[in-house]
Amino acid sequence: MIPLKDTFWQSESWQQQMSGMIRDPIQLLHRLDLNPIDHPFSSDAIQQFPLRVTEAFVAKMAKGDWNDPLLLQVMPLHAESNEHLGYVNDPLEESLANPVPGLIHKYHGRVLLITSPACAIHCRYCFRRNFPYDANNPSQRDWKNAIDYISERPDISEVILSGGDPLSAPDEYLQKLLTQIAAIPHVTTLRLHTRLPLVLPARVTPALIDVLKNNRLRIVIVIHCNHANEIDEHTTTALAALHSAGFTLLNQSVLLKGINDNVDTLVVLSLRLFEVNVMPYYLHLLDKVRGAAHFEIDEEQAKFLMNGILSRLPGYLVPRLVIEEPGATSKRPLALS
Ligand SMILES: *Cc1c(COP(=O)(O)O)cnc(C)c1O
Ligand code: SF4
Repeated sequence: MIPLKDTFWQSESWQQQMSGMIRDPIQLLHRLDLNPIDHPFSSDAIQQFPLRVTEAFVAKMAKGDWNDPLLLQVMPLHAESNEHLGYVNDPLEESLANPVPGLIHKYHGRVLLITSPACAIHCRYCFRRNFPYDANNPSQRDWKNAIDYISERPDISEVILSGGDPLSAPDEYLQKLLTQIAAIPHVTTLRLHTRLPLVLPARVTPALIDVLKNNRLRIVIVIHCNHANEIDEHTTTALAALHSAGFTLLNQSVLLKGINDNVDTLVVLSLRLFEVNVMPYYLHLLDKVRGAAHFEIDEEQAKFLMNGILSRLPGYLVPRLVIEEPGATSKRPLALS
């Protein structure tokens, strides 16, 4: 008999790990051997957008390092309370493209469903940190409206499950939703935008893979990884399972000051993603959401970094640098010169 390894990855279900998320900054800093006296967190920031991070993600942070690139993504700082010109609650004006609850339709041929309001991490730069999830937390009846909306529009061929994190919903819920989507003949592709393979790799169970596989849709999974340190052995295992199930795996990152704003970090990230069967897709300029200005990298600096990556990597490992603007018909690629 092969003894089960006595680690919490195996001994706790993903639901337990999710409800056991760290929400207390003192507890987080204690795990990392950091003293809150040295670098106070902001209670105001936590009031605005609560602290949330899984043990699995904290396990990838370096101890004793205030500048750890993973810690910086979740640490509530006083800087979040400063007002900056142009930083607003709904930078993408999604509320204008929200024809039925839970559905956002901005681009030709694809719609986005706010599948679940919950995330297993709260990224401080999140552009939906002020999103009215309560008004968009779809009941069964609301899904019917969203499904009708898609059914009535034959040009919609792709449905994107987003959130929150769609994989924070239980299998049965996803199964029901997928069955309804797969019953719409003109939908060919189902895409998931998820961070869980990085923050809660235990979510990728054989049962989940069955739910995703047992329908006629092509499955694309876009993970959200900003730094190579987010990919440890557990994440590698989860991604390998998704890859062998035949799903297309892509990554999107956000360019973040102090976290991944240098050429070496971005090159290592692309190479690491490729090792785990994930192709770089987008590198986003920060969305100007209130509270996130301290993460900003401007267009000039971003282009300079992109030129650096281009000179180091094969073309297929270079993500597209994009910016999202309200009212545009796609994300806008930034021209390099
Ligand atoms: C980003 C986004 C998409 C997907 O865009 P792609 O360029 O196809 O990746 C779709 N709908 C909305 C509302 C989005 O923000
Ligand atoms: S996982 Fe995505 S949706 Fe959730 S907080 Fe982070 S950036 Fe926002």
